[in-house]
Amino acid sequence: MEKRDYYEILGVGRDAGEDDIKSAYRKLAMKYHPDRNPGNSEAEESFKKATEAYEVLKDPRKRQTYDQFGHAGLGQAAGFGGFGGFGGFDLSDALRAFMRDFGGGSIFDDLFGMGPGSTPRRRNRGEDLRIRISLSLEEIAAGVEKTVKVRRMVGCDTCGGSGVAVGSSKKTCPQCKGAGQVRTISRTFLGTVQQVTPCNMCRGAGEIIADACRSCNGDGRVGGSSDVKIKVPPGVAGGNYMTVENMGNAAPNKGEPGDLIVVFEEKNHEIFSRHGDHVICELPISFTTATLGGTVSVPTLNGDESIKIPAGTQPGKVFKLRGKGIPHLHRGGRGDELVQIFVWVPASVEASDRELLRRLARSDSFKPPKPSKSFFEKLRETFGV
Ligand SMILES: [Zn+2]
Ligand SMILES: [Zn+2]
Repeated sequence: MEKRDYYEILGVGRDAGEDDIKSAYRKLAMKYHPDRNPGNSEAEESFKKATEAYEVLKDPRKRQTYDQFGHAGLGQAAGFGGFGGFGGFDLSDALRAFMRDFGGGSIFDDLFGMGPGSTPRRRNRGEDLRIRISLSLEEIAAGVEKTVKVRRMVGCDTCGGSGVAVGSSKKTCPQCKGAGQVRTISRTFLGTVQQVTPCNMCRGAGEIIADACRSCNGDGRVGGSSDVKIKVPPGVAGGNYMTVENMGNAAPNKGEPGDLIVVFEEKNHEIFSRHGDHVICELPISFTTATLGGTVSVPTLNGDESIKIPAGTQPGKVFKLRGKGIPHLHRGGRGDELVQIFVWVPASVEASDRELLRRLARSDSFKPPKPSKSFFEKLRETFGV
């Protein structure tokens, strides 16, 4: 497939300065970042493409090569260990690049020691895998440890991951004679250019497998699964993700395994809705309690609590239970629980009650006020709309 031009992807001119490139990329990254587009593979693809373009154009050396030779130059020129040919530029590469320059891509960097630039580049690496796990608000509030079964490629037991049949051994690659790379001469408008590229027969290893392991057909890995323990800290939100290193697919022939990217989803709660780190619920009270006042029980994420309802409480009134919301991720403290009162009206009442209510209806105390601006403004303030 023809690759799109990097300048075109970022929407900048070929004479764009470093700052232009950075800000163009930042805009695209903020728009397409997986955190903002959970489950949207198109956005993920755009995020990867923009990051790849940015990685090349921000680096004067890579940019120069790209300007001269296009994508082919980057794919083959030696010394671009950074993204070894770009073939393996995957989501985690993109997320790391974004984090390195803009920070805050993943909330878990500090937990997993994946700070800027700390992850060495890997060749022959297994693919990253991505899973989603659903969490209840209670699990999010308390933090939770989950063990999930992940289907992934694992090292082949028969050959120990080497891909070589038992009793056999590797032999020198006939194409590169063991060098692992080949020299090619190509003609460009600048003249002839000599390029050193990894040997495609042995994939740069210098050796090939003459007699392949029958369990894995020489790949060194087979389909399998692993139980992965995932420790979710309190306070995560839907769309947040964490990276579990080395739990992606095993790499062919004893390379480094990929990572497992765990994306969180939030289950709907039957009582609470979440707004940032606050939780909100509606509490029905009787109109006698609203009128006379009293103590009622309200649910929280940590069990029931009782609150005092003052006499004359109007529907829509909000009570705040400080610190009863979701913990703030990584910074201590918690959000609040907001309890909004509504007055429950019985659909039918017994005859004796009806008689009582008729008497009350005649009383002046039960005449509602006339509609007025101030009354509704007050309601509006309470509802925050
Ligand atoms: Zn094998
Ligand atoms: Zn070779």
